[in-house]
Amino acid sequence: MEDVTKESKPEKFDVIIIGAGPVGLMTANMLGSLGIKVLMLEKLDKLIDYPRGVGIDDESIRTIQAIDLEQKAMRHITPFHWARFYNSKRKLLASIEPRQTTFGWSRRNAFHQPLVDKILHEGLSRYENVTLKFSSRVETYLQDNEGVMVTGSTRDGELFSYQAKYLVGSDGGASEVRSNMNVTFDGSTAPDPFLVVDIEDDPIGTPNLEFICDPRFPYVSIALPHGVRRLEFKVEKDQIVNDIDVTDEFMTTCLNKIKPSLNHSNILRRRVYRHNARLVSDFREKRFILAGDAAHLMPVWQGQGYNSGLRDANNLAWKLAMVVKGVSSDKLLDSYSEERRQNSKEMIDISVLTGKLFSPSNRFLAVLRDVVFGLSKLIPAAHKYITTMKWKPIPKFTKGILVTAPKKEKHSPVGTIFFQPDVKDEQGNIKKLDNIIGLNFAIIAWGSDPSIHFDDETRDIVKKIGAKILTVVPEEQRESALEIKSKSDSDSEYIFDHTYAVNEWFDWTYGSVVVIRPDRFVAGITQPSEFPELMKALAKKLALVKV
Ligand SMILES: Cc1cc2nc3c(=O)[nH]c(=O)nc-3n(C[C@H](O)[C@H](O)[C@H](O)COP(=O)(O)OP(=O)(O)OC[C@H]3O[C@@H](n4cnc5c(N)ncnc54)[C@H](O)[C@@H]3O)c2cc1C
Repeated sequence: MEDVTKESKPEKFDVIIIGAGPVGLMTANMLGSLGIKVLMLEKLDKLIDYPRGVGIDDESIRTIQAIDLEQKAMRHITPFHWARFYNSKRKLLASIEPRQTTFGWSRRNAFHQPLVDKILHEGLSRYENVTLKFSSRVETYLQDNEGVMVTGSTRDGELFSYQAKYLVGSDGGASEVRSNMNVTFDGSTAPDPFLVVDIEDDPIGTPNLEFICDPRFPYVSIALPHGVRRLEFKVEKDQIVNDIDVTDEFMTTCLNKIKPSLNHSNILRRRVYRHNARLVSDFREKRFILAGDAAHLMPVWQGQGYNSGLRDANNLAWKLAMVVKGVSSDKLLDSYSEERRQNSKEMIDISVLTGKLFSPSNRFLAVLRDVVFGLSKLIPAAHKYITTMKWKPIPKFTKGILVTAPKKEKHSPVGTIFFQPDVKDEQGNIKKLDNIIGLNFAIIAWGSDPSIHFDDETRDIVKKIGAKILTVVPEEQRESALEIKSKSDSDSEYIFDHTYAVNEWFDWTYGSVVVIRPDRFVAGITQPSEFPELMKALAKKLALVKV
C-alpha cells in the first residue's frame, strides 16, 4: 500500500482502533490479552468525562470480568438498581426489579461511565502489545487486500501514518470510519432534546431510577454511585444555548419543579443531548469494522448504548484475534455483523418504545399507557414479564458460529449465553465459572472427562482453538475425581458443582458436553460419543485454516 504521507515507512500493527471510548478500550483490552499488537488513536487529549452512561447490565459486567477488571469496576457500580415508572400523580405504574443473577451479576446496575472507562484505560497498561496515543486525530482511511492504512495529525501538528491488518472504528456516533465505508446509517433523531444534569451530595437520596411520566413535565431521576444524582429533562428548543447547554433560568425552573430547595450550587455537569435511533447496514466492509456507537445509536431510555457496544467488542475481539493469528480465515469475521446486527436493532426498538412510554406524544397515549400498566398488574404473567425484564432482548443467535441442535430438540441452548454459576476449583476455592475459563473457548462436560472420546482430528481442533476442557462433578465426588485425574494424562481440569446449578442446567438439555465460545455463547452441545462430529462441524464454522 502506498504511504500517502511520503514520509518514513509507517509502523505496522495487527489492529488499529480509532477512538478510546469504552468500546475501543474494551476491544483493546481483549485483543491485548489475546496477544495482538494493537494501536489505539484518540483525537482528544484524555478520555471523555462529561455525563453519559448510568446503566450497566449483567452482560457488560461479565465482559469486564473477562478482562479481569470486574473488581475494580464494581467500586463504581450500584447493583440491584431498580427502575420505577410513575404517572403525573406519583402513582406507581410499573416497577422493574429483575432479581435473577443468571450471568453471575445483577441485571440492572447504576454506574459512572467515566470512572469505569478510566479503569478500562488503566487496564491497558498490562499489555506491552497495546499502544494508546491521545491527541491523535485520524483523517484518512485506506484499505486494500493486504491491509489498512490511516494518516492524521497530532495536536502539535505532527503528521502520522500507521498500517495494520484490520481497522476497528469505535469512533462514536459521528464515525468517520463509517463515512469511509460503503454502508448506510438509517434511522431517526427524536425532535425533543433532553438536558442531563449531574448533582453531587444527592439532595433526593432515593436509591433507584424513577421515570416521572408527567406529560407536562416528564423527567428522569437516577441515584448514581458516590452520592451523585442524575436528572434528565425535556428541553424547549428556545432554551438551548451553544448547542449543548441551556439558559440558567430554564435550569432553575426545572430544579424548582422537582424541589424548590434545589439550586445550581451542587451541579457537577450539565449537557443537552439529542436522542438518535440509527443502525448501520453492515458492521464490516472488508478490513474496516465498526463497533459501538459508530455502528448503532439508541435513545438512552433503556441504557443500552454502552452495553450494546461492549457486546460488539465481546463478539468481535476473539474472532479478530483468531484471524490475525492465522488460526481462522477472514471468513470468520462475516459472522460479526450477522450476529450483532439483529440484537442491536432489537435494543434500538425497545429503547424507542421506552421513550414513547415515558413521554408519549399526546395525552390520550399517556392515559392509554397508564391503563395498560394498571391492567398488567392484574395479570400475574404480564406483571412478571414487566417486573423481571423478560422483555429485554438478550442476544440469541440462530445463525453464526454455532452448530445448531437437531430439529427435534425443542429447548436448545445453542446460540444463547451460557449461565455463570459459582463452582469450586480443584483446590476447593469458590469461583465464578468465567474466572476459571478465562478469555478462552471452553468444553464443559458433566460427569466424566470428555477427552476420552476425542479422535486425533478433534484433539487437533481443540488445541488450535485453545479450548479449556472442564469436567464438572458434584462436590461430593471430589476425592474420586481427583484420584482419576492423578492417574490420567488428560488435559481436563475438574470443577465441582457445590450448588447443584450445573447439574440442573445439564438436566434440561439433551447433551452433556457443551462448547462455550470466548464470549460465553453456547456454540454447540452433544453427547460425549458424538463430540468429534460436533467439533468438526464447529471447525468449519470457525473457518479454521488447515496447516
Ligand atoms: C446522556 C447519556 C446517557 C447515556 N446513558 C447510557 C446508559 O445508561 N447505558 C448505556 O449503555 N449507554 C448510555 N449512553 C450511551 C453511551 O454513553 C455510549 O453508547 C457509549 O459511550 C459509546 O461508546 P463508544 O466507545 O462507541 O463511543 P464514544 O464513547 O463516543 O467514543 C468515541 C471516541 O472516538 C474518538 N474519535 C472520534 N473520531 C476520531 C478520529 N477521527 N480520530 C481519533 N479519535 C476519534 C472520540 O474522541 C471518542 O473518544 C448514554 C449516552 C448519553 C449521551
